[in-house]
Amino acid sequence: MLKDKVALVTGAGSGIGKQVALKYAAEGAKVVVSDIVEKGGKETVEEIVAAGGEAFFVMADTGLPDDNEYLVQQTLEKYGALHIACNNAGIGGPSAPIGEYPIDGWDKVIKINLSGVFYGMRYQLPAILKSGGGNIVNMASILGKVGFACSGAYVAAKHGVIGLTEAAAVEYASQGVRINAVGPGFIKTPLVEKSMDEASRKALVALHPIGRLGESEEVAELVLWLSSDKASFVTGSYYNVDGGYLAR
Ligand code: NAD
Repeated sequence: MLKDKVALVTGAGSGIGKQVALKYAAEGAKVVVSDIVEKGGKETVEEIVAAGGEAFFVMADTGLPDDNEYLVQQTLEKYGALHIACNNAGIGGPSAPIGEYPIDGWDKVIKINLSGVFYGMRYQLPAILKSGGGNIVNMASILGKVGFACSGAYVAAKHGVIGLTEAAAVEYASQGVRINAVGPGFIKTPLVEKSMDEASRKALVALHPIGRLGESEEVAELVLWLSSDKASFVTGSYYNVDGGYLAR
């Protein structure tokens, strides 16, 4: 599905981003695996190469404009083009009601989860245009559409990601670049499972009519489809992959 394409994935050292990188590579793309953590990113590259694919690692913090510029530069230097970007890196942030929310926690979540997507697209779009067109998938969340207690910064950032995706899609649709957002429900990754006891896990499961949390691979399938020519008429859209969470 992605033969001869060059794709970059941020936050590709773990969870959803890792599965997106593996699927892109399995479909024939050359993949730039980026993460702020070297170990996870390099492991993803090793898995891709072991499976016969092509990939290399670039350490970059999506919350820093210069790192995003560097990531695109490295991609062009190594593979000579950029066709696909998945802006996936993100953090959960502090858990507190808005009246008590730590200011530095707010700033950090907005910087990585929202500004990071803008910084990414700011440098990816000119490169994709120069490469003859392509597409971008931004990782939002079900919490880009509805609220969730004690997660104000995350909810605000993910709502922003959907708006930013729509604005960019309108600007670039006629120039051969499709831009979409994905809204996973709660997915079994370190981000969600890190600090969860059994009671909280059961409560989260109960919010998904399908009766379980999602798997990273299930999100990556949707991302892959959006990134492929099979989605050639799809831009400015937001797709859920949430086991029915938003349908309740
Ligand atoms: P994860 O913690 O498993 O992976 C996130 C990766 O991003 C990690 O490898 C981490 O090192 C990297 N990262 C963190 N900050 C970074 C930064 N500043 N620059 C570059 N890389 C950075 O989490 P995940 O669950 O796979 O989350 C991936 C994305 O999916 C996030 O945007 C998250 O908000 C979104 N999401 C997750 C869920 C879920 O339930 N897991 C649900 C909806 C949306």
